Amino acid sequence: MVSKEKLKKQVEKTSSALKDGVKKVGGKGRHKGVVAHKHCRICHLPIEVKREPEICGDEACDKKWLQNKKNEKMVRIAFFFFALVFFAPLILSGLGVF
Ligand SMILES: [Zn+2]
Repeated sequence: MVSKEKLKKQVEKTSSALKDGVKKVGGKGRHKGVVAHKHCRICHLPIEVKREPEICGDEACDKKWLQNKKNEKMVRIAFFFFALVFFAPLILSGLGVF
């Protein structure tokens, strides 16, 4: 069972992290009561809305982000080739080449 003390500490940590995010975002939000913020794509810590790329700036997150980007590129290339192989015969036959 999780001790109350531990749970309380965790809640405090989360709320203070959110407050930090609020401070950085500023008070320009049009929606009252809804704080505009993003989350780090890797560790999901609250970050600035305008932050690009969407990571907190931590070195570990930075590395993972770059790795993810590389993987995304590979997936896109693989998908492109798959689509090409799959659709090329259809298109060619549609054009009356075959
Ligand atoms: Zn992060």
